[in-house]
Amino acid sequence: MLRDLDEISSHRNAINEDISELEFGAWIGGKSVRAENDGTFKTYDPATNEPIADVAECSRVDVDTAVSEGKSSFNDQWKETTQTERSELLFEWVETLRDHEDELVLLETLDTGKPIGDARWEVQGGIDTLEYYASIIRTHGGRQIQASNDANIYTRKEPLGVVGQITPWNFPMWAFGWKIGPALAAGNTAVLKPSKFAPLTSIRAAQLSEGILPDGVVNVVPGKGSEAGAAVSEHDEIQKVAFTGSVKIGKIAMKAAAENINPITLELGGKSPFIVFPDADLDKIISPLATGIFYSTGEVCEAASRAIVHEDIVDEFTERFVEEAESYVVGDPLAEESTMGPLTNKEQFESMNEYCDIGQQEGATLLTGGEPAETDLDGWFWKPTVFTDVENDMRIAQEEIFGPVQTILTFNSYSEAIQMANDTRYGLAAGVGTENTSIVQNAIKDLDAGSVWVNGYGPILPETPFGGFKDSGFGNDLGQEALDHYSRTKTVGINFDEPSI
Ligand code: NAD
Repeated sequence: MLRDLDEISSHRNAINEDISELEFGAWIGGKSVRAENDGTFKTYDPATNEPIADVAECSRVDVDTAVSEGKSSFNDQWKETTQTERSELLFEWVETLRDHEDELVLLETLDTGKPIGDARWEVQGGIDTLEYYASIIRTHGGRQIQASNDANIYTRKEPLGVVGQITPWNFPMWAFGWKIGPALAAGNTAVLKPSKFAPLTSIRAAQLSEGILPDGVVNVVPGKGSEAGAAVSEHDEIQKVAFTGSVKIGKIAMKAAAENINPITLELGGKSPFIVFPDADLDKIISPLATGIFYSTGEVCEAASRAIVHEDIVDEFTERFVEEAESYVVGDPLAEESTMGPLTNKEQFESMNEYCDIGQQEGATLLTGGEPAETDLDGWFWKPTVFTDVENDMRIAQEEIFGPVQTILTFNSYSEAIQMANDTRYGLAAGVGTENTSIVQNAIKDLDAGSVWVNGYGPILPETPFGGFKDSGFGNDLGQEALDHYSRTKTVGINFDEPSI
C-alpha cells in the first residue's frame, strides 16, 4: 500500500512495499493481459540501476489484438458517442486519476529518475491535459460555408478510427495526456506504445480507466520499438500515427505511414537557441534559461541548449549562468531538496562522457561539470555542464546531446544572432532575452522555430499548440490544433429549391 510520499526515502523499499501490488501487463480491450508469448522485460530505476517491475513485452500479435479491440470498440460504441458523452467519461477518468496522483508520481519518479517535485508537476500536467480535452471537445466542430443561396454547405468533423501513438521516455505522463486526450475526445480509439525505458505511468493510467471508458477505447502495448513500435506504425488498420521521439526513428515511422497512406504527426528533436541581446535583464532570464537546459536532466526535446549571447555581456552572463548551474542539487529523486535527478540509462550516461570529450577536442572550454556527479546512489548522475568558446559548427552546438549541457556562443549583430540561431537542422523552440520591443517583434518573425518565448522559456500548457519546424517534425500536440489532427473533415452540401407550398 502506498504511504505518504514524504515518508518514502528508500527506492528498494518503495518498490518492494508501495508499488508491489501493481502489475504491468499490456492494457488491451479493457483488461490487463500478458504478452501472447509470455514475454516480459524489466524496467529500471535510473537512480539506483535496480529493476522496478516486470512489464509485458508485446509482439506484433499483441499489437494486432489491441488494434482489433480498438476497432471493435470504435465501430460498436465509441464512434456513436456524442461529444458531451465523451467529455463526461473523460472527466470521470480525470477524477480517478487525480485520486491516484501520488501513486502515479511515485511511479514516474522511480521509472524516470525525475525529482519528485518535477514528477508531480508532470503527472498533474498530463491529467490536466486530459481535462482540457474533455472540456474543449464540446466546442469542437465544423463550420458553415455561406457560398450559395440554394445549398446548405458546411463541414463536419469526424473521428478517424483507431489511431497509433508512439511515445518516448523523457515525459511519459505528459506524453500520455498529450496523445490520448485529443485522440479520445475527438472520438477515436487508441493504441499507445510507450518507451521501454519508462512505460509504467502509461500502463497505470490506462488501468485506471477501467469501468469508466468502454473496453478497447484505450490500449497500451509496451515493448521494443523495433517490434511493438514498428507494428503500430506499420499497421494497415490504424488510421493515423502520432510519433514523438528521435529524428532517426521518426523517419522510419513516416515511411511506414506512407505505405498505408496514413497521416502522421512527428514531434522530434531539437537544438534550440536562446539569444541574449545586450540589453537583456539577466535577473529575468538566467533562471528560466538554466531551467530550459537543466530541467529533466536536459533530456528535453525543446532544451535551450545553445545560449547565443551578445559579446558585450557574455562575461557577466557566463559568470552568472555558471553560478546558477552549480546551484543545482543533483541527487536522490525521492529527496525533496534534489533539483536534478540522474540521466535515464547507461547509454545516455556514456553519451554524456563522449560529448564532453568531443567538446574539449573541438576547442570549446569546459567551465563546470563535464563529469559524473557524486551521490549516495548508484545511478546515472551527471553534473550540470557548461561550455564556452563554442562555435556554431561544432558538434556540441549542432547535435542534440539530450543531457544537461549548455553551450555558450557569442554574436555582435542582430543578423548574426538570427543567422546562428537558425543555422541548425532543427526548429523546435527558441528564446529571446531583451527589453527592446523592436528586437522582440523582428526576432519572433525571423526565428525558424515552432515556439518562440520572450524573456522566459515557456510556458507549454494544454492550451498552447506545440510542434516543430524543419527536422523537428510537423503537426502539433496540444491546443485546438491537436483535435484537428485527430479528425477528418467532411464537406456537406444540401441542395434545396424554393418552397413549393
Ligand atoms: P526514440 O526515437 O528512440 O524512441 C521513441 C519511441 O519510438 C519509443 O517508444 C521507441 O520504442 C519507439 N521506436 C523505436 N524504434 C521504432 C521503430 N522502428 N518503429 C516504431 N517505433 C519505434 O526516442 P527516445 O530516445 O525514446 O526519446 C528521445 C528523443 O525524443 C529525442 O530526440 C527527443 O528530442 C525526442 N522528443 C521529442 C519531443 C517533442 O515533442 N518534439 C518530446 C520528447 C522527446
